[in-house]
Amino acid sequence: MCGALVALFLLADPALAFDIQGHRGARGLAPENTLAAFRAGLAAGVDTLESDMAVTRDGVIVMAHDPRLNPELVRDPAGRWIEGPGAPIRSLSFEELRRYDIGRLRPEGAYARQWPGQQPADGERFPALSELFDLVRAQPRRVALNLETKITPTSGDEVVAPAEFAGRVVAAVRAAGWQDRVTIQSFDWRTLLEVRRQAPEIATACLTIETERSSTVRPGPDGASPWHAGLKVADHGGSLARLVAAAGCGTWSMFWRDLTEARVREARALGLKVLPWTVNETADMQRLIGWGVDGLITDYPDRLARLRGGAAGR
Ligand code: MG
Repeated sequence: MCGALVALFLLADPALAFDIQGHRGARGLAPENTLAAFRAGLAAGVDTLESDMAVTRDGVIVMAHDPRLNPELVRDPAGRWIEGPGAPIRSLSFEELRRYDIGRLRPEGAYARQWPGQQPADGERFPALSELFDLVRAQPRRVALNLETKITPTSGDEVVAPAEFAGRVVAAVRAAGWQDRVTIQSFDWRTLLEVRRQAPEIATACLTIETERSSTVRPGPDGASPWHAGLKVADHGGSLARLVAAAGCGTWSMFWRDLTEARVREARALGLKVLPWTVNETADMQRLIGWGVDGLITDYPDRLARLRGGAAGR
């Protein structure tokens, strides 16, 4: 009885439970970062909705992965697919941005072929962060948010500066009273250090990728990766996990193919949560769960929920 009660409390504690995170809402099921995708993620049984943020010219935080309108996703007010490169979201007012339809992928595009199961939802607009908050607030159960500041070391004027980006996000989270429900994540740790400085009560997650083609970890000439706000891995014994902890992140969220079982052990020994992205095949999910990760970010939260015992029991 006692053991069963303890188990119940452990399951009820969101800090200890396994975290099913729907990537861009649920990109495998509905158009990414739309309210349709967030609803699909909720219906699939996510614990957390993962999404990306941009800021419009008039200072509205919106959910968008790309800093510019993406021709693979975006149709103009006349229904025509836009040509690239699209306008930066920062150059548009919220009202101007809302004229574009992001409810389906360009049918002949390479991107559409990656998501054959994505159900179109014509008429969807770039949602404001406040709309995502409203949707989550209306749920009968507690759902968390993992929100990414989309900024890079070279984005320059195309994206708001790190301190302003962090400041706007912190203000929105505080206004919602959700300091304990929102995690701020980024590959560009400048915004994460700013969040820690401005709002130490809000959790941050350090994102990394270390493939041959794309690395946010490779040191620059000064020994620091340009993505890491001046922090140098050499100052932390060459350990990326220790660097993440030094940045004040409570979670290390790495490209899943970069993860090893030894890294899971090292990170957890440092008190970090381990949250790989973006894991879409059931066999890979199973292997990583076996290593003891704290959760997974996936485009198919329905698959992960099924693996974890089904949405009905959650
Ligand atoms: Mg993201």
